[in-house]
Amino acid sequence: MKIAVLPGDGIGTEIVEQAVRVLGALDLKFEMETALVGGAAYEAHGHPLPESTLKLAKEADAVLFGAVGDWKYDKLERQFRPEQAILGLRKNLGLFANFRPAICYEQLTHASSLKPELVSGLDILIIRELTGDIYFGQPRGKRTSPDGNFPGAEEAFDTMRYTRPEIERIARVAFEAARKRSKRVTSVDKANVLETFQFWKDVVTEVHKDYPDVELDHMYVDNAAMQLVKAPKKFDVVVTGNMFGDILSDEAAMLTGSIGMLPSASLNASRQGLYEPSHGSAPDIAGKGVANPLATILSAAMMLRFSLDQEEAAQRIENAVKKVLAQGLRTPDIYSEGTTKVGTREMGDAVLAALG
Ligand code: NAD
Repeated sequence: MKIAVLPGDGIGTEIVEQAVRVLGALDLKFEMETALVGGAAYEAHGHPLPESTLKLAKEADAVLFGAVGDWKYDKLERQFRPEQAILGLRKNLGLFANFRPAICYEQLTHASSLKPELVSGLDILIIRELTGDIYFGQPRGKRTSPDGNFPGAEEAFDTMRYTRPEIERIARVAFEAARKRSKRVTSVDKANVLETFQFWKDVVTEVHKDYPDVELDHMYVDNAAMQLVKAPKKFDVVVTGNMFGDILSDEAAMLTGSIGMLPSASLNASRQGLYEPSHGSAPDIAGKGVANPLATILSAAMMLRFSLDQEEAAQRIENAVKKVLAQGLRTPDIYSEGTTKVGTREMGDAVLAALG
């Protein structure tokens, strides 16, 4: 099993170090190779995703990614900005399925902006299609409006589109994932208004025939946004397109209160994947040793589950994280009175000790 380790910028290096220590403590044989990405790669090689880093990522079974970016690169031409590395990896590895779990840990319910009884025990998996939809659809651009409300006026436009195979493969990913959970999928669309999402709904319904053991329901995206804050525990697996998924996954993330706790995975058809925390490089706290490494450690657990077929080891890590939270250890982002404040490395130490 080969893992490409790409720590990136800011807190990326600090949090990935802890995840690597945890992986190293499992009784599994990994080959781990580290490479530069993002701003760090731009400084050393003049590009945020150098050929050598891309080659390593392509050859690996999985990529463990920290975070990229810093305000000091904001003035660079777009192609050289650190964040372009993520887009380059998604495109080159064909990562079409994005998994964003939103889990509210019992001990952290107070961190949510919703009432504890609404989020206590929350465990949602949002599956977002990542390579199609209006974000990539052509044509797009600016022109003189040929018709509509103001013919002749300057206008900008994008194109929403999905092909049958794109919908089929993400629907299958969702049904398969649901089989490992509570066997319920909610497909989110806007079929009442958009042709693309009427087609989405029809294709998801067709694919569902192959998964009679999984319950499927459909929900309009506006209602889904409402239900996520009204009764989030009604959801289990949610599958949706790129744009709706972008918005709903951030909304769901915030239900849990802390961005430092949320892992993510992006997978391709051969289950090769990129695993990263949902947060960024946090330049405001970089180098201070206070970043929460748990989202990255939990991303490593997802990597074991989805790309490396090591379910038992994945659960070992997840249980260790729960234990550490039960012991009352907290990095500053999740600290509350009565708990013990620890730094990045101490949190890593605690997870290692709790692995059992
Ligand atoms: P951010 O997620 O880096 O930080 C937002 C806030 O959350 C900050 O106050 C930060 O200190 C805090 N935070 C984030 N992760 C934390 C952790 N593990 N522990 C404790 N606190 C944490 O978002 P931002 O500030 O908008 O962006 C900073 C940089 O990161 C930008 O350059 C941006 O482009 C980049 N970014 C990268 C990714 C990625 O690599 N996937 C994602 C988002 C943003």
